Amino acid sequence: MQTKYKQIRFLFFTLLLIISQTTLAKINIVAAENFYGDIAQTLGGDYVTVTSILNNPQQDPHLFSTSPSVAKNVAHADIVIYNGKHYEDWMPRLLSVPGKKKHREIIVVADLTNTQANDNPHIWYDPNTMWLYAQKLTAILIALDPDHKADYLLQLSALEKKQQAFMAYLTKIKPRLKGQPVAATEPVFNYMADALGLSMQAKAFQWSVENDGTPSPSAMREMLAAIQQRKIRALIYNQQVSDPMMTNLIETAKQHDVPVIAVTETQPKGMDYYTWMRTQLEALVAANS
Ligand SMILES: [Zn+2]
Repeated sequence: MQTKYKQIRFLFFTLLLIISQTTLAKINIVAAENFYGDIAQTLGGDYVTVTSILNNPQQDPHLFSTSPSVAKNVAHADIVIYNGKHYEDWMPRLLSVPGKKKHREIIVVADLTNTQANDNPHIWYDPNTMWLYAQKLTAILIALDPDHKADYLLQLSALEKKQQAFMAYLTKIKPRLKGQPVAATEPVFNYMADALGLSMQAKAFQWSVENDGTPSPSAMREMLAAIQQRKIRALIYNQQVSDPMMTNLIETAKQHDVPVIAVTETQPKGMDYYTWMRTQLEALVAANS
């Protein structure tokens, strides 16, 4: 009688353990960048846990190097999301090591966009990128966890409303910005600038900074002339990069009453993607009115 009771009790707890693991196990998502991770958390809700690797707007993401804890996170992920276009070459390297899970889904966001011909990796400044990524991720979440399909679709449609509101805002501000000459210290904002029809000046500067770290003398002369002769309506700079040359350039712009607009590569704390983008755009609109 005693042993039978123990056996039943053992079976009961084993069953309970299996049930709790199947119902409570969350989908483990690792995103290389926090804006992709934030959207993943929004879309996955209670059914996912999300780790974002690049999440500090005070650090230059181009200088990031990986650590054992990052490698461990990636190894245990069910879904890995990264930007691609050589923005984070450490990620394909980490992914070349087999994962711990039976199956690991990988989203390379750049592959979802039509930016293939463009070397500029900052594709999240293209207003279409987030929505393409959101749809892809939702399809994967539903495939991995079909029981919660209705919830995933509900979250996606809530996000679609934000996307539509954002696109409507861009349509509203475009007539004001179209054709306006601006310059940028780096190509971070360029996809958005193109979407708005801004006329980007002194482009040699940003590409020589992107490729070599410092502008060539002729690129520097062209940029200084654009600022000093006030040929531009705003100077857009990357707040995440700090060096004396950039600080000097920003000072020069201020001295010549050229509005200076800060943008970041990484999503700031306390903002979602759409608020982040909108805040930066509002500053640009204010500079052009
Ligand atoms: Zn960058």
